[in-house]
Amino acid sequence: MEFQNYIGGKWVKGRGGKTFDAINPANEEVIAQIHAADVADVEAAVQAATDAFESWRLTPAPLRGELLFKIGDLLKQKKEELARLLTQDMGKVIAEARGDVQEAIDMAYFMGGEGRRLLGYTAPVEMPNKFGMAVRDPSGVAGIITPWNFPIAVPSWKIFPALVAGNTIIWKPSPETPAISAAFVKVFEEAGLPAGVFNLLLAPGADVGKALVDHPGVRVLSFTGSTATGRAIAEAAGRLNKKVSLEMGGKNAIIVLDDAHLELVTDATLWAAFGTTGQRCTAASRLIVQKGIAPKLKEALLARTRKLTLGNGLDPNVEVGPVINKTALERIHNFVQIGQKEGARALVGASVADVNGKGFFYTPTLFDGVRPGSTLEAEEIFGPVLSIIEVNTLEEAIQVNNRSKYGLSTSIFTQDVNRAFTAMRDIFTGLVYINHGTTGAEIQFPFGGVRGTGNGHREAGQAALELFTEWKSIYVDYSGKLQRAQIDNREE
Ligand code: NAD
Repeated sequence: MEFQNYIGGKWVKGRGGKTFDAINPANEEVIAQIHAADVADVEAAVQAATDAFESWRLTPAPLRGELLFKIGDLLKQKKEELARLLTQDMGKVIAEARGDVQEAIDMAYFMGGEGRRLLGYTAPVEMPNKFGMAVRDPSGVAGIITPWNFPIAVPSWKIFPALVAGNTIIWKPSPETPAISAAFVKVFEEAGLPAGVFNLLLAPGADVGKALVDHPGVRVLSFTGSTATGRAIAEAAGRLNKKVSLEMGGKNAIIVLDDAHLELVTDATLWAAFGTTGQRCTAASRLIVQKGIAPKLKEALLARTRKLTLGNGLDPNVEVGPVINKTALERIHNFVQIGQKEGARALVGASVADVNGKGFFYTPTLFDGVRPGSTLEAEEIFGPVLSIIEVNTLEEAIQVNNRSKYGLSTSIFTQDVNRAFTAMRDIFTGLVYINHGTTGAEIQFPFGGVRGTGNGHREAGQAALELFTEWKSIYVDYSGKLQRAQIDNREE
């Protein structure tokens, strides 16, 4: 297979003439050759998006929405084909790859419906014979920069709201998942999206992303990825006065109180901690457990973790796929070694796994005796490593949870409605789950985090439209005379 960049409605090789490989992390095979974009291609892509903006902005929103419905239909038809390529490009098991594509289908239909809403509002005004309304304008040319862990779902949270609101796009996906990214864009082309409305740049390294961030023609940036990269982007974008949304790292926790349903917690914890090999932004990496239930829960988790089947995600019996690459494997193992040096005890795992001598596999790992404030407890590991922290009370559990420098997702297991509501009130993360693990957000609700995870924006739901639209307040005075607001209607 071979994939190219998509600029102004044409598939093009990068101007630098370089290529790079898309590698399957399950067996290290090259699945596709990718033509790399370089900085000069950014210029061409911004030009194409700028040229397309005027007519896309003026295309009635319901018609833009209809195109999104068509894209949703095509994604539905191609779900299996895309899911299989996604698993090969990124490694997640096939059932989860289907879920990744499903999220894009759901988002296409949800945002397609926004084509007939994109609600503004009217409100009464102070003066007679005057009318006021607030409407949404598109933000302009949007730069979209995404990570590899949800190669279709995460971009779709950005691309569909941007398109329905009338923005044009340059998308720079992660170089770890170029093949599935190009296959996704082909669906938009097939649906008949006008040339230049959606452009794709495939590139290794940071240069192309940086050039996109720095380009004055790109007015709005939507980024998902690590906190370090997000901060660098925010600094550069701030200097240029750009609108920028950041979704970054996480250190999510499951809180388990003594009255929790043991079997349910065990199922949910395994799924939240080791699903997607722990490489979800919402993956549970801390288990904050009340002391009474801790021994039984550890025993149950240990037994089940040992039985997890590792392997190539295309095999439907495999439960845990590889991590994304060798660097990630080494980074995860390094964290594990630091944890051991700091006194935590690995109950299971803590080693690189050998699956037919190929690929990047890590054994699902449970750490006991993890101290609040230690490296394992504080840092995002982004791999299959779960740290168990014991606490005495709900209040202590919430304190440990809220002390994290990240704030994406927290869940709590309890059968006591009073404690559940206290937790809902006092947990400070963007997502809170009651009697469910930390993963599983649905696209109709706002998604995002606080503290080191976000910068105040939200994706998904109608909240996603805030980034991709600018409010315009319009006043119509039909009195035929000068009426001075805040002056002429005041007697005193
Ligand atoms: P990353 O920050 O390394 O890369 C993300 C994207 O930014 C990639 O496309 C990359 O090429 C690009 N990039 C890198 N340097 C850049 C620069 N200086 N300027 C512009 N672009 C640049 O992240 P990753 O390793 O791909 O993804 C993993 C991270 O993503 C984890 O920290 C995870 O928590 C986070 N994530 C967060 C969410 C969320 O919604 N909060 C969702 C998924 C993943």
